[in-house]
Amino acid sequence: MQWIDKRVGYADLHPWPELGDAPLQEQLLDLEIGRTSLLIEQAIWLARRDAKLRAKSLNALEGMRKVKNHHLISQYLDVTPENLNEAKTAGFSVLKIKMGRDPEGELSFLIDLLKKYDFLVRLDFNGKASFPHLERLYAALPGSQRAKIEFIEDPVPYTYEVWQELAKLWPLAMDNEIKNVDWNAKTLPFKVLVIKPARQDVDSTVALGVKKNLRMVVTSSMDHPVGVAHAVRIAAELKKDYDSLMLDCGCNTLRAYKPTEFSNQMIWQGPFLTSVPGTGIGFDSLLESLSWKSVREPT
Ligand code: MG
Repeated sequence: MQWIDKRVGYADLHPWPELGDAPLQEQLLDLEIGRTSLLIEQAIWLARRDAKLRAKSLNALEGMRKVKNHHLISQYLDVTPENLNEAKTAGFSVLKIKMGRDPEGELSFLIDLLKKYDFLVRLDFNGKASFPHLERLYAALPGSQRAKIEFIEDPVPYTYEVWQELAKLWPLAMDNEIKNVDWNAKTLPFKVLVIKPARQDVDSTVALGVKKNLRMVVTSSMDHPVGVAHAVRIAAELKKDYDSLMLDCGCNTLRAYKPTEFSNQMIWQGPFLTSVPGTGIGFDSLLESLSWKSVREPT
């Protein structure tokens, strides 16, 4: 984006129609006529943050706190013992597993994993589990292995009552179900708040987390390396202000995709993104070399 003060900043816009977002073409049409969606608002906000750093020739990660990330398993069937050993050696201590597509297979994978490896594990069901399934999971694991489940994220669609019951079994984390939460409730049935800078207003979400003393996890939105760099910068800022509330984050999502010239410019050391060379969120020459089109062609 370019502003009237001539500052230029970058962010990506990566809708997930699976999560109810309008498709990209629709979002671009909205932008063209000056209508925004939450994703558009966040992209503009993030781009402006980048523009401010670029204007001062500052790099988004230099001199910032290091942000440790979990290792993401999008599909358990793709995981080999070598992958897990590599992740351990690289320094990951937390695994996040996307769940909810194949309950039986996932359960035996999990039992085996917890038996053989010393990771903390986060399970993300995207609202697709059921109460009986989560009870079965509880019954299937001995206490020592249960203790390695750091939390279960979005187990079922949110209602206070059902989550309250589930919270008796498992520590819970709130991500996509956040729209259904009544923040005035005296207690909340979850202990962890997932913050996705590309998908929600960061300041107000963090304020809620702090007020309710929730642990926080910043994650990218399975989006472009530009979005990953933005998410890591925000996580680093939050670590500075709220270190005791921050858990390992979830910004290392690029392994789900084939490497690109963008992702190749990022320097990872195991769970840490240590550098994105350039100014702002990085990628200076690559971003300049793209052929940019105005969303509103001059008439
Ligand atoms: Mg999630």
